[in-house]
Amino acid sequence: MKSAAIMDEPNVASISLGAEVGGQSFADGQMREKSQVVEQMARRIQCCQDPQVELTLTRACLGVSKVNHLLRANGTELVMESTGLKKFDEVQAQSVRRLVPGLDAQGEEQAFRAMGFGGLGLRKALYTALPAHLASLIVAGPKLLDLAENLEHAGLLPAELVMSEHRKAIETARQLLEERLDAQAKVALDNFLEGAEVRAASDWFDVKHGAAPDRTQAPRAEESRSATSQPRVLAQAISGGLRDEPDEMGQSMAATTVSTAHVQRELTYIIEAKEHAEFMDRISTDDDRAHRRMLELCGVGVCHKWLWILNPRRGSRLASEDLTLAVQSRLGATVSPGDELCRQCGEALDPRLSHAFFCALSEPT
Ligand SMILES: [Zn+2]
Repeated sequence: MKSAAIMDEPNVASISLGAEVGGQSFADGQMREKSQVVEQMARRIQCCQDPQVELTLTRACLGVSKVNHLLRANGTELVMESTGLKKFDEVQAQSVRRLVPGLDAQGEEQAFRAMGFGGLGLRKALYTALPAHLASLIVAGPKLLDLAENLEHAGLLPAELVMSEHRKAIETARQLLEERLDAQAKVALDNFLEGAEVRAASDWFDVKHGAAPDRTQAPRAEESRSATSQPRVLAQAISGGLRDEPDEMGQSMAATTVSTAHVQRELTYIIEAKEHAEFMDRISTDDDRAHRRMLELCGVGVCHKWLWILNPRRGSRLASEDLTLAVQSRLGATVSPGDELCRQCGEALDPRLSHAFFCALSEPT
């Protein structure tokens, strides 16, 4: 077997299952190529002339979902040499700015949040890379151990050689991820990863032994933000909103197996919950109106489906102008120059058209 096997030298450009495996600079180069492809495609989908269809296509085909497999394979390396990821995110941001005119920096930041956090459900590749890579490493762990033991049994190489590389990869991804977390979120990360590793091992054991699959809830990240910065009810509503968000195909995700998608989502939740809390703290002092709008958006029972549900026969469900205006209002974009008067009541309109939500004439007597 040893003589029949072909061993590549390390750091040689080579594609395996669509992902570059030759090392950091090759992986980064592949990401830059993908960014160019996405840029070209983003120009093409403008032919649809329908913002809701464009938004849904951008999210499903041209966003992080387009490169998620690369992030799972090379997330850590891509973050270390991040030119490819930054280029990709810039292309995404261009699409958002085109779809939502009048967006400021704060609105753009909000657009890249989960829908349950008041965003458009888009993701920055730079921030998704580590959860994606770490999730795939954690879920692959038990299978890799079996493979390594079989390799050793076949006399090819010691199992420890493979497993020590794997542990090193997990450690590096985890350290980089922790740099973005505060103390509270780190505790949530530790607890979640511990539970996920145990459950991944027991799930794999069941599969190997033909046992009935475990139907209990897979481990979830704690509601790390509930106690301090948000009321408990709101924190639950937000996490529910994020976790109930459908995947790119509009399907809800089963959470009874520790799949890579599940672990990636929970890790993303830990980061997003922390960053959302910081965002809310910031705007509560700087921008009271935006803060109130966000509280409403993140409230219990708020439906975000209008952002992505399309009619399979007729495409968009909302008229183009209505959709654009609704998204602009969601993200606090500037809609009018602010020097016009309301035709109903005669008051001055503000640039974000918040007045439209409150305008009411007194009842005629
Ligand atoms: Zn008015």
